[in-house]
Amino acid sequence: MDRIEEAVSAFRNTSIYDEMLTVWNYYKSIENDFSQFEEAFSIRCPDRCGQCCERFIPDVTYLEGLLIAFYISFVEKRDISYLAGWSESHTGCPLFDNDTKRCTVYSVRPVICRVFCSAASETKDGLSFRGCFNMERNLDDRTLKEKEIHIPVMSEYGEKIRSIQEWDTETMLLDEAIISITSKLMLIRSFIDENGDDFTPQAS
Ligand code: SF4
Ligand code: SF4
Repeated sequence: MDRIEEAVSAFRNTSIYDEMLTVWNYYKSIENDFSQFEEAFSIRCPDRCGQCCERFIPDVTYLEGLLIAFYISFVEKRDISYLAGWSESHTGCPLFDNDTKRCTVYSVRPVICRVFCSAASETKDGLSFRGCFNMERNLDDRTLKEKEIHIPVMSEYGEKIRSIQEWDTETMLLDEAIISITSKLMLIRSFIDENGDDFTPQAS
């Protein structure tokens, strides 16, 4: 059992437990798609770059936000009060550590952060990979198909994460999602503490 699975078990017997495991298992199942693609085409972000994280706040689905909120409050046990009103006064991601230039939730980062520079796009000329503004790497359809590997396509992963939670396809800014979902997690956890493992609250 890995660290996330072990921590998630604090919510065993709740629907939120199944939701967190579903998205965590999905992330584990796609990890190899990106590492194989990056290796095959020598795609590398410069060490400690993070300029994309400094420039945007991701929109996330409920499930993506759920795993991040859980990770911050129940695994890392970090204070989230600084997130209140974040997107009203900032343009960069609140989970980027400016000192270390690293993502502080890397293992549970949302789909957009996984595909941004590690997946191809569909264009009228076939598949295409264009490196970000800080990475000169352009690969056309023919070049991509020369390698006999599965080429990850951005849109597939976004569609998949939305299809997992087809009951709620709305997205929220990451900071707002974390605040809202953390309140729900805290409430459920307090019910579990008061009622023991027999209590089986519903997440939504
Ligand atoms: S995707 Fe681009 S901006 Fe973001 S870390 Fe990699 S090289 Fe830097
Ligand atoms: S969640 Fe992590 S990888 Fe994604 S934008 Fe924020 S700091 Fe960057």
